[in-house]
Order: sequence, then structure tokens, then C-alpha cells
Amino acid sequence: MVVVVKKGTDEHQLSTLVEWLHSMDITVHRSEGAYDTVLGLIGDTSRIDIDLIEGLGIVDSVTRISEPYKNANRKFHPDGTVIDVGGVKLGGGSLEFMAGPCSVESPQQITSIAEDVKKAGAAFLRGGAFKPRTSPYAFQGMRAEGLELLKLARAQTGMPIVTEIMDLSHLDLFADVDIIQVGARNMQNFELLKELGRCDKPILLKRGLSATMEELLMSAEYIMAGGNSRVILCERGIRTFERYTRNTFDVSAIPLLKEKTHLPVIADPSHAGGIARLVEPLALSAVAAGADGIMIEVHNDPAHALCDGPQALTAPQFAQVVERARAIRAVMCHD
Ligand code: PEP
Ligand code: MN
Repeated sequence: MVVVVKKGTDEHQLSTLVEWLHSMDITVHRSEGAYDTVLGLIGDTSRIDIDLIEGLGIVDSVTRISEPYKNANRKFHPDGTVIDVGGVKLGGGSLEFMAGPCSVESPQQITSIAEDVKKAGAAFLRGGAFKPRTSPYAFQGMRAEGLELLKLARAQTGMPIVTEIMDLSHLDLFADVDIIQVGARNMQNFELLKELGRCDKPILLKRGLSATMEELLMSAEYIMAGGNSRVILCERGIRTFERYTRNTFDVSAIPLLKEKTHLPVIADPSHAGGIARLVEPLALSAVAAGADGIMIEVHNDPAHALCDGPQALTAPQFAQVVERARAIRAVMCHD
């Protein structure tokens, strides 16, 4: 971090700042220029409040040189993290598919979709039991019963299950879930992230509706700072001025996140585009960009789905995406 101190600052104020930085184990290199004094801060600057320093009357500007996240940073962990979930590996060069309905609706629905997506090449079964809906009058999910049905589908197919937690108070219900998903709306629910940092389960962290990549990485950092290093990031589209799509798929986030972090990065083209016919092109672009996995909503009867029918693929459509995505992956050489 570089701090430029205003011309004419008195020595006493400057040494108070330097002593305060020393008290936080920061080494300060001071350079005197003709017009300014420049302080070079060396050490763990992730705990320094940049706004606090910027707000000091004697400070002209502050520039961060190193990122404010340590655990998630590729600089300190050059090898990509591989997360093993029940024998399926996320990261490390593989391309895995998570598929299933937006919401679990009935035992027949979830078990038949699970069988179908498994045949088509999915390694994980997704399905929402607790649903974050914009309207309180919309279907809210089958809740605890939905979790039981996911476990039933897992027992029948052997596929690990991934499902969204919406509230800290439900954590006990997720004890037997393979991957806990934190949805876009909860990406900055810091109390939830801290608690998930203390639990022994992989966390699928989706990018918030208008979160920057750095904010997503800082949310991953919250989980990792608590001791849980098994975090998977998910690009699922961000809100922009565009209205033809549900969200705007930020494909650039995939290679950039993979540069910044060692964590696996997957993409969700279903919530990004919000339209079934966009799922394949978006999924393929994510694979070309180096995604470690793809999450897709699949329904046995999209027209009658209780949630997100317009973006749901049928199992044969999903099978085609898997086939084409693997063909693209085969010509790529991402690590
Ligand atoms: C979901 O995956 O079911 C979901 C609600 O996604 P998001 O949090 O990305 O909107
Ligand atoms: Mn959905």
C-alpha cells in the first residue's frame, strides 16, 4: 500500500501515523520527494482500513498494491485448489456438471430428473428446497421436506447433492448435504458466511446481483478466514441496464477470477440468461473461458415448473449441452 502525505504536513502528525502503522506490524518506508512524502507500507495490509487512512487530513491519496484477500489469493497459493466431493473433483482441470430443477417439487419429479441428468453426464444433483423468491406469494420451496427428497434422489442415483441455504437458523438441516449453496442474494450475509466458515462442508458461493469480483472474493475470504477452505465460486450473471436477458452473463469474470484466486470457478448460464435457448451458448462460452464446472437448471416439464420454467432445459437439451461443452473443453488447455 502506498500513502502519499500532503505537502507541509508537520512531523508530529506524520510520526503519529507511522507509529500507528508500526503497531499493526507494518513496516514503513519513507521517501521524501520535492513535493510530497510517500510512505510505502509493507506487511499484512489486509487488516488496514484504507478509508480511515484516506480520511486523514494529512493524507493526499492511498493506493492498494496487494489485494485485501489472503486466503483466496492465488499469489499465496499458486496451485489451483481441487475440491473432492464424494469422489468427484472440482478444479484441477476437470469439467463437471451440476444439474437439476430450480426447485424440488415432488418425489417423482426430483428422482426422475436425477436419473435423467445423471445419464446425460451430470456429476451433481442441484435442487432448491428453500427458495429465495422476489414475491412472498410465489412458491417458497418444499423446505425441510425438499431436503429429504434430495437425499432420496441421492440414494437412488449416488449423485452428491447441492442445495441453497437461506438462513443461519436452518444450518442443522443441512448436516447431510454434500455442497451448501449460498445464493446471489446472500453473498454478503456476513454472519452466514462466518458460520459456514466454521463448518466442514464445501460451499458454492454465487456472485451477488451487483457484486464486483473483488466483493465476491472478499465473501469467499470470510468463509476461508473461519477455516473452511473448500469454496467454489459461481458466476451467475449480474444486473445491468439490459432487459432482454434476466441478467448479463459476465464471461470475463471466469478467466479473471481464475487469475486472482486458486478456488474452482463454475458458471450458471440458467440464471444468467433466464431463457432456455440462451443456456447452451452461454454454457459453451463459459467452458471456452476456462470454467471448472457448469450448473444448469433442468426440468421434466418446464412449462409447468413451479419456479424458473422459462430457463429450464429438458434432459435431452441438457445432454446436448454436455456433449458440446466436452468437445470445447477437449480443445482447450486451461489448468
Ligand atoms: C438458484 O441457483 O437456485 C438460485 C436461486 O440462484 P441465484 O442465487 O444465482 O439467483
Ligand atoms: Mn432458479
